[in-house]
Amino acid sequence: MFPTDPISNLAALIRCPSVTPAEGGALTALEAMLAPLGFSVDRVVAKEAGTPDIENLYARLGAEGPHLMFAGHTDVVPVGDEAAWSHPPFSAAIARGEMYGRGAVDMKGGIACFVAAVARHIEKHGRPKGSISFLITGDEEGPAINGTVKLLEWAAQKGERWDACLVGEPTNPESLGDMIKIGRRGSLSGRITVHGVQGHAAYPHLADNPVRGILQLTQALMDSAFDAGTDTFQPSNLEVTTIDVGNAAVNVIPARASAAFNIRFNDHWTAESLKAEIVARLDRAAKDETLRPGRQPVKYDIVWNERPSHVFLTRNNALIDSLSGAVEAVTGRQPKLSTTGGTSDARFIKDYCPVVEFGLVGQTMHMVDERVAIADLETLTGIYEAFVARWFGHAAA
Ligand SMILES: [Zn+2]
Repeated sequence: MFPTDPISNLAALIRCPSVTPAEGGALTALEAMLAPLGFSVDRVVAKEAGTPDIENLYARLGAEGPHLMFAGHTDVVPVGDEAAWSHPPFSAAIARGEMYGRGAVDMKGGIACFVAAVARHIEKHGRPKGSISFLITGDEEGPAINGTVKLLEWAAQKGERWDACLVGEPTNPESLGDMIKIGRRGSLSGRITVHGVQGHAAYPHLADNPVRGILQLTQALMDSAFDAGTDTFQPSNLEVTTIDVGNAAVNVIPARASAAFNIRFNDHWTAESLKAEIVARLDRAAKDETLRPGRQPVKYDIVWNERPSHVFLTRNNALIDSLSGAVEAVTGRQPKLSTTGGTSDARFIKDYCPVVEFGLVGQTMHMVDERVAIADLETLTGIYEAFVARWFGHAAA
């Protein structure tokens, strides 16, 4: 049977309890939808010591270019307090025009709609002149080690090349047509430790209180803006997320104090240039004597989080215009092209081809009673179908 109905597609996916790292039957359900459309499907298990094995799926229809990839994930976050749900989280119950279930918007709904859109396209026009593939991971909500990164490597290794990618994450803040994501800020974290000299609180000249040092250093990180933002990006922003001393005694000056921070940065910076800026700020602040008159510079070290997310911005008019035009044709609204929000798997895909993101309304994602308006499923399917037609039309022109 042709999977042209996004509602039944989504119900089948929601009924699979695929909380990361469990496959939960979700990829099997998806494979059952793609096979009748003529896709050849690979199930790829990725492994890495110290992490659970993860099952992923790659499916392709067609052998020629141009090649459009749809990317997403079937894993979902835990349900939280199951008793608090109005309807069981894996039941796909429909009430008052909405379907309930974990993953309804993040992002089984996006997958269900894209499958339906492709099925409708094939029904009306036959196979597209080119290829469509699905790159679906089971490890987006988890550590993301055995997911998109390894699946892309695996596919590229066997010769897969893509011209464009659409990620179906929920990108709309309030209603369908609000927002397309055309890039993402980078994210970088680190921890600073200040080394002082422990001592008696009554004899501070014999000690060196690291609390004074950590205040100077964290102040320097928060003090002035890193940049003013760009046309497409918000200003970069740093948040100190914790300051830790862990000292239980009121009469003891502690030996150490540490602090952690996270910075979301725009395309003024690379992770490397930003690290250099942060170290320069810290070195300057370490010499400041305001809180420590007559003292040697603060002794500190910094440990960077190993895997920063790199900033990216997609500049591919065929892709952006096809999607934006499809949204406008179906909803009558011009979507905002945005780079806001957290990171997503698009940060890995951008190394292979231009990538944009558009999906459902994100309001209930990760919450109790995650749910999607039935009308939105139909509308998003229409948008995806128009996008596929436009993109292949564009690529053939
Ligand atoms: Zn998601």
